[in-house]
Amino acid sequence: MNAGNMDIQINVEQGSIQEIEADTIILNLFEGVKEPGGATGAVDKDLDGAITELIANGDFSGKASEIAVIYPRGAISARRVILVGLGKRDEFDLETVRKAAAFAIKRARDQNAKNVATIVHGGSVSGIDIADAAQATVEGSILALYRYRAKKQKDEPDQKIHSLNIVEFDNKKLPDIKTGVKTAKAVTSGVYLARDLVNLPPNIATPTKMASVAGEIAEEYGMKLTVGDREWADEHQMGAFLAVAKGAGEPPKFIVLEHKENHDDLDTLVLVGKGITFDTGGISIKPTAGMGNMKSDMAGAAAVIGTMLTVGMLDLPLHIIGIAPCTENMPDANAYRPADVITASNGKTIEIVSTDAEGRMVLADGLVFAGGYEPQVVIDLATLTGSCVIALGKGIAAGLFSNENKLRDRLVSSSKATHERVWTMPLWDDYKKKIKSDVADMKNGGGRYGGVGASAIFLKEFTNYPWAHLDIAGMALTDKESDYIPSGGTGFGVRLLVDFLRNW
Ligand code: MG
Ligand code: ZN
Repeated sequence: MNAGNMDIQINVEQGSIQEIEADTIILNLFEGVKEPGGATGAVDKDLDGAITELIANGDFSGKASEIAVIYPRGAISARRVILVGLGKRDEFDLETVRKAAAFAIKRARDQNAKNVATIVHGGSVSGIDIADAAQATVEGSILALYRYRAKKQKDEPDQKIHSLNIVEFDNKKLPDIKTGVKTAKAVTSGVYLARDLVNLPPNIATPTKMASVAGEIAEEYGMKLTVGDREWADEHQMGAFLAVAKGAGEPPKFIVLEHKENHDDLDTLVLVGKGITFDTGGISIKPTAGMGNMKSDMAGAAAVIGTMLTVGMLDLPLHIIGIAPCTENMPDANAYRPADVITASNGKTIEIVSTDAEGRMVLADGLVFAGGYEPQVVIDLATLTGSCVIALGKGIAAGLFSNENKLRDRLVSSSKATHERVWTMPLWDDYKKKIKSDVADMKNGGGRYGGVGASAIFLKEFTNYPWAHLDIAGMALTDKESDYIPSGGTGFGVRLLVDFLRNW
């Protein structure tokens, strides 16, 4: 798997950072510190007080993500020292670490650094776990360096960092740092893969391509793989999934990846991701403007497949199943239409009011299939509704719906730890009125107001287990780079899910 061309070497080394072989070293400073201590202090001494002078002259204050570059001119082996601010000590958290690491390494990259050494940001702050700090340092760095390598960019100059060394003087901290770095490698691989899948054009990232990527993961980590085609879905009576797939030229694929399938002693957790590889809206066709962004309508599936890669790399001791119902949603002579009545795999009937509300259709059969595993928990992710984006904003938070408070709280806590934000929305039965149908058990849409609640209550009809639904419509794609998230696919959900699974 060569996700995002992640060919950077990441190592952990014991020693003094000023003696490490690197062209660039990254150090940090809290706001308000006048005389640096620790590694920054040691380097300052070797530089004859250059950092202290910078602070005294007001050229560097240590504000969060502030950057200064110092040239040691032979005083130490590195050619440049990048100093990054950590902000106020009492506001410090892991997100500060990720951002500091991101801004520092982006400066290093822009200055054409090849071999970078860094200390663990916040490694000696009380109340911060050193493994978590190491993980956040590497995550912030690697996620910031992500670049979608399209063909056009291949001819551009190679401005790429080859190695990142995490340096720690204190021998006792090394095992924890190694643990954190190992986790970060697995997590960033999953995020890179999810970003790649979203960034790939929709004629490349087809359901077939999604299945072949899942196949690579299955092979590499010994997972069980099922790729259901139309015939298979028909045998499983997946009328809702097949309705959406009816108009698709690309063959639909119902993908199931199963980690530790033969472990009856382990808890069973299922992840389901909406995999509409391109959403035209179908017969209820979308307007032209911005339709290209609908290549990201498989971001839920991408997050699930990316998470399964991380699960494999970390070999998590859980029975985890990743389900990705993948198909295009196209207008076609065979396409399903408004007023059609469809029967899902649990026998419930659905009146179609909009063929553009296709995500809940494929999820319906995905959620019913998940129930077959008798899971402790099912979490689905979907770029489901524009109304969720209207409610919470673009790039702010995913909508979280859950039928169990404990599960909801676990996800909120993982959201806080990873800064992949979720906000709890009501899963009230009141919304059921909105999807009441005269000709079927329900409609697939409830009109303009409260559309996000109606979509969630629709999905609930296909669950009979502790379940959470994440509407990631506003989170999957960004047109603006920010700290450690470059523009394009964000990979949102992978870090959240991995944290949730690791803490299960
Ligand atoms: Mg749609
Ligand atoms: Zn859609």
